[in-house]
Amino acid sequence: MFYIKDNHDNFIGFTGEVYAQCPECGKLHLIDDIVEIIQESPDFSFYGTRIYCEECSEAYRKVFD
Ligand SMILES: [Zn+2]
Repeated sequence: MFYIKDNHDNFIGFTGEVYAQCPECGKLHLIDDIVEIIQESPDFSFYGTRIYCEECSEAYRKVFD
């Protein structure tokens, strides 16, 4: 069980699906490996970490390949 604290110090528990808004296209997309992302990102924050949607990360990868 995870809890997140909002700007008003309310704790919100969640067990279900986690969605993030893509900073590139603004689309809300499902994050199915949130635990993995947190484990791999020591600086992870729900407010500060930008998680791109599949299409945008694909396009991003192509640019740098
Ligand atoms: Zn996107």
